[in-house]
Amino acid sequence: MMPLSITFHGAAGMVTGTKHLLDLPDGKRILLDCGMFQGEGPASNALNRRFGFDPASIDALVLSHAHIDHSGLIPRLVAEGFKGPIYATGATMDLSKILLLDSAYIQENDFRYDAKRARKQRAAMDEVGPLYGTADVEPAMELFRPVPYATPTEILPGVTLTFLDAGHILGSASVHLAVAGREGVKRITFSGDVGRYVDRLVPEPRPFPQADVIICESTYGDRDHPPATAAEEELLGHVQRVCVQRQGRLIIPAFSVGRTQEILHALNKFFNEGRLPRVPVFVDSPLSINATGIYRKHAGLLRPEIQKELETDADVFGFPGVEFVREAARSKELNTRPGPAIIIAASGMMDAGRIRHHLFHGLPHPANAVLIVGFCAPGTFGERLLQRPEVVHMYGEDVPVRAEIRTMESYSAHGDRNELLRWISCQDPSLVQRVFLVHGVDRAREGLAGLLSGRGFRHIEMPKLDQRFGL
Ligand SMILES: [Zn+2]
Repeated sequence: MMPLSITFHGAAGMVTGTKHLLDLPDGKRILLDCGMFQGEGPASNALNRRFGFDPASIDALVLSHAHIDHSGLIPRLVAEGFKGPIYATGATMDLSKILLLDSAYIQENDFRYDAKRARKQRAAMDEVGPLYGTADVEPAMELFRPVPYATPTEILPGVTLTFLDAGHILGSASVHLAVAGREGVKRITFSGDVGRYVDRLVPEPRPFPQADVIICESTYGDRDHPPATAAEEELLGHVQRVCVQRQGRLIIPAFSVGRTQEILHALNKFFNEGRLPRVPVFVDSPLSINATGIYRKHAGLLRPEIQKELETDADVFGFPGVEFVREAARSKELNTRPGPAIIIAASGMMDAGRIRHHLFHGLPHPANAVLIVGFCAPGTFGERLLQRPEVVHMYGEDVPVRAEIRTMESYSAHGDRNELLRWISCQDPSLVQRVFLVHGVDRAREGLAGLLSGRGFRHIEMPKLDQRFGL
């Protein structure tokens, strides 16, 4: 018998690449999430090409939610030999399918573009290829086994999995494993990404049974979000100022899953109340359109207040004046279209997707504004824009940044430090043997570690990449 252990193969001292490997006493291996590293430049690419373990040796994968930094390497894991089941909620399964296809498509496209440019410049091309292609997604999807919330399910002999709503995005879960061993049952909780205790689309994070070991995210472990009650009014204020008073464009880079639907829901509410100015709204992202369809399909998972709205408004994400743009040609038309508009496009961190074209055309004009509503990881274009540079480099050109750059952190899908403490407050700290802080930069982890030890939690660890701990 081997000792129970956990090894952190990602999101250790950073926010992306979540992969936590549990080695069980009977030799079985469970992987918690299989996320992609993002925003670290060439380092991400190198990190994404090594798992730190043999994919074929994994017996089961448990997926907390569909975001690419948690799910993005699943097709590569499968292509490299993983054959076990993938446990996730049904909504996570549906969202993973469109997100993974999108990720594969972007990688294939980028690779073609890079290869073409290298040929033109007669430069030596680093022939590494995409991490996976669109053809790798379907074999991965076949391994998914949907598990509803709050339904204990035996996933391996002596290992019971329960998902509880983490309130982060549709389908998001914290993962609770009960592992039977010689000395009794070990309860291991992995937070996934913890959501908000405020009025949003998805319900509040659920309390969870007493755990022995907790693996907790710490994205905002050292920060407070501004009060969320004002978020929607603040959004309306930006629309008024930019689109009505200045006749400019309000460009909103938004994650296709979660943030886009939050914004659409707020705008829909203003429309129903007769408060939305007559400004065309464009959702310029096929992925966002697909994701919105999945939100509609799983509307039963949304907050009770939303269920109530659905009784009188069959579509809480759509209203007259909003156009969902699928065709690339139509997207290009928007770049030169005169007049005010609200443009919602992905990606949220601005490293890829149609948002790049809107920024390229929109940044030089002072009437416009970019409204950053999501977390931008270090190294991403979004993070650079947050520093309000005078010029950015895009598509081989220097682009002056004259548009207003604003942020609205209240739309964050991640709980702040108070919300993380609230999530963990259902626990008796004296019974928790170990807390591992992941998914946060060191400053955030240290902040949260201080707060947790103040609440009586002991043995708080801040794992490094590939670090292993006996449990
Ligand atoms: Zn997430």
